[in-house]
Amino acid sequence: MEVLATSTSQEIINLENKYGAHNYHPLPVVLSKGEGVYVWDVEGKKYYDFLSAYSAVNQGHCHPKIVNAMVKQAETLTLTSRAFFNDQLGPYEEYLTSYFGFDKVLPMNTGAEAVETALKITRKWAYEVKGIPENQALIIVADGNFHGRTTTIISFSNDTNARKNFGPYTEGFISIPYNDVNALEEVLKNNSNVAGFLVEPIQGEAGVFTPDDLYMMQVKNVCNQYNILFLADEIQTGIARTGSLLAVCGNCSCENACERQETYARPDVLILGKAISGGVYPVSAVLADDAIMNVIKPGQHGSTFGGNPLGAAVAMAALEVTRDENLAQNARRLGVFFREKMQEYVNTSNIATLVRGKGLLNAVVINDTEDSDTAWNICMRLRDNGLLAKPTHGNIIRFAPPLVMTEAQLLDCTQIIIDTLKEFEK
Ligand code: PLP
Repeated sequence: MEVLATSTSQEIINLENKYGAHNYHPLPVVLSKGEGVYVWDVEGKKYYDFLSAYSAVNQGHCHPKIVNAMVKQAETLTLTSRAFFNDQLGPYEEYLTSYFGFDKVLPMNTGAEAVETALKITRKWAYEVKGIPENQALIIVADGNFHGRTTTIISFSNDTNARKNFGPYTEGFISIPYNDVNALEEVLKNNSNVAGFLVEPIQGEAGVFTPDDLYMMQVKNVCNQYNILFLADEIQTGIARTGSLLAVCGNCSCENACERQETYARPDVLILGKAISGGVYPVSAVLADDAIMNVIKPGQHGSTFGGNPLGAAVAMAALEVTRDENLAQNARRLGVFFREKMQEYVNTSNIATLVRGKGLLNAVVINDTEDSDTAWNICMRLRDNGLLAKPTHGNIIRFAPPLVMTEAQLLDCTQIIIDTLKEFEK
């Protein structure tokens, strides 16, 4: 520990390069502390965090209420496995299902695990409830999707880098254009073996592609009409990120996933991860009603850590913070403000061509080719100017700060972003 405390950023980067697999390409900044919307590097320089660990830290870094829940539970009981009951899981399951309005939850740890879980539930439902012949079930996905990194999930990705040389791939998926409900209906008209449609309400990793306002509702209706399950992957968009508790809530910024408003495209299977635990501990979850979830019987799915008492306590605290601190409303208000300010700049800029997004999940498209390093260089300069962001794909920079940000802080940040972009004007 003594050595680490006195190491420079470069020394620590060298260690990762030498001893860690090179499966990421991080911005060269080594963080050692976080609080709210800020992080600090090992040399003590302070930054605004505009990535929030890919939207896992919506409640801000080291939120005291979440950290206290974690510490308290860590001192009491951390892991039992599901071989026994623990006193946190039942209350957590009751809390979570009533928070999101579903009958049941299947608790897991990471996002990819939750997506895998949802796919398994969907296939089983297809055979045992819908009556699709064994091994014939198909699941529709959208072009440009990102649902994680497991072998099955990358089987239906069209990101060459994510797929190449990881085959053979899992069968049973059909990919259709995103934001195109007619394409969905076309497949369904011609195929009675479809079990479900897995989709992100906004494609975050692909570059914050925000579909038409009505897309999710149309998807829900078509899924209902053809008796297939609508699976919403809200791992990145959920927990207030886009200005409502879930992105499928549409235009409602209340703190519930409720049937109250007409815009709520309630999925049959809701997939959550990341900010469900405020970025403090890996927790993910799949929610569905009994008619779907009851297809899973003992021994058919599970995880040693899924549903552990530590994760359960942390997730309850994180969701309480989301509600108590009105994070959805704040994300909605500040998101409008961010896009207005950026749009004013984009109108006169020759380096930024577009700003898009919802709530505090936004992206700016940089005026250069997808394989250029301009967006990367801008992120390096943003870092020097005290703000951390990362390109998603080539020339697109995602801006997703913690949702506890104030208006004054956001104003400061938009100024840093605009001033930095101006340095790159051609
Ligand atoms: N689904 C979506 C929409 C995501 O954005 C991500 C992660 O970025 C995942 C799934 C995978 O989550 P994890 O990295 O926790 O496996």
